[in-house]
Amino acid sequence: MNSFRQAIEAEASPEELRSIPIPETYRAAFVRKDEVAMFEGLPSSEKDPRKSLHVEEVPVPEMAPDEVLVAVMASSINYNTVWTSLFEPLPTFAFLERLGKSSSYWNRRHDLPYHVLGSDGSGVILRTGSAVRNWKIGDKVVIHCNYVDDQDPTGHDDSMLSYDQKIWGFESNFGGLADLTLVKANQLMPKPTHLSWEEAACNALCNSTSYRMLVSKNGASLKQGQRVLIWGATGGIGGYAVQYALNGGATPIGVVSSEDKVELLHDLGCEAVINRSEKKYRFWKDEHTQDESEWRRFGKDIRSLVGDDPDIVFEHPGRQTFGASVFVTKRGGLIMTCAATTGYMIEYDNRHLWMKLKTIKSSHFANYREAWDANKLICEGKIQPILSATYSLQQVGEATNLVHKNQHEGKVGILCLAEKPNMGIDNHELREKVGEDKITLFARYGKTIGSSNN
Ligand code: NAP
Repeated sequence: MNSFRQAIEAEASPEELRSIPIPETYRAAFVRKDEVAMFEGLPSSEKDPRKSLHVEEVPVPEMAPDEVLVAVMASSINYNTVWTSLFEPLPTFAFLERLGKSSSYWNRRHDLPYHVLGSDGSGVILRTGSAVRNWKIGDKVVIHCNYVDDQDPTGHDDSMLSYDQKIWGFESNFGGLADLTLVKANQLMPKPTHLSWEEAACNALCNSTSYRMLVSKNGASLKQGQRVLIWGATGGIGGYAVQYALNGGATPIGVVSSEDKVELLHDLGCEAVINRSEKKYRFWKDEHTQDESEWRRFGKDIRSLVGDDPDIVFEHPGRQTFGASVFVTKRGGLIMTCAATTGYMIEYDNRHLWMKLKTIKSSHFANYREAWDANKLICEGKIQPILSATYSLQQVGEATNLVHKNQHEGKVGILCLAEKPNMGIDNHELREKVGEDKITLFARYGKTIGSSNN
């Protein structure tokens, strides 16, 4: 892959890139099927991604007619990287085995004894399949992770409703934490020209998810003046959610767990912030019993900051917070949920939901249109990347462990073919116009924030 790296750095023409042969193997981060039991009996907190993630050469897979082969310059860690590396809540080989049973030859390729993971990426197209129309060799792209078959009729209202919808690099193989990746042409979007490879690579998964949850008609259709409670407001999806609330004329109320994070949010323009560590909320008296008086205390804190209950709650911690989220939502308001980091068996008091006509709505990633629109906002400098730290592909275990331990901010980037940070910026004029300060806000705080409590 060295020849490709050099060619890309030298801005080689499509013809030059075409003339370089694709190697037989490439460097990739993967988990191994024969190791899925390695953490058996351990609590999640003691499972260590540095032990389960390997970085080695694997064979280059065969490309389908609707696919492209992309040289990955950078990628990022997502929470699904954590899930895959811990083999929780189930080993992702279950997804690959299901693909292995498919009648499609192309689906069956994914069922291998190793799973190359990663659901984000920025890079350069090296080869296009015969059915690819809108993209060509040499195009600089970012990749979104909605992996759907566009010949499936069930996906043609909203592709997230497609019966066989999957997340690339989590429920499929050949993901983005590698020097090469194989993706469907309908996952491609233009790379933001004013960003480095790693700044460009960190957005697609989390930014598109937050866009669908808050902005899209498939989510909350956020309106000016609304109040939005955002859990984990400096985390991967929370950091974009805050920006969408601010851009849309709403009032975000960010919940975080340290003073540094409070400061970061203030710098981002979010005035109303709750430090949950300082407040020491105990929504659960014990493992089985929630404490309504603590929900009430939390609700009062929100009202004292913004004068009213939140119209929308951006919910993803799950079991630990869901009861409180339902309680504090305004009469007629909406709880938007996309995850359950702290446990997926949720409990809440249904009386507080129905008597006050609240709605729980679910969301999952984003369809191509939503991902495209969210990427356009990044391209135009209206939403900023929230990259706080960058690691090499070799250090992928370390980087994943940071996210696992909630010791990171925003997004953690991974350099794949890019040799060092800050490469790949093409439009310096736009970068200057958007403002270096805004683009690198999370990176500046990333240096000071080392740990937080769960
Ligand atoms: P992240 O970067 O780790 O951020 C999550 C934030 O949640 C943390 O920064 C933490 O913030 C907060 N948090 C953790 N434990 C908490 C607790 N007990 N109570 C309250 N807040 C807590 O992860 P992410 O990328 O934002 O992802 C969050 C979740 O969404 C993950 O489960 C992920 O798998 C899921 N997700 C789903 C989709 C989808 O399409 N469905 C897409 C992206 C992510 P503080 O410590 O500062 O409070």
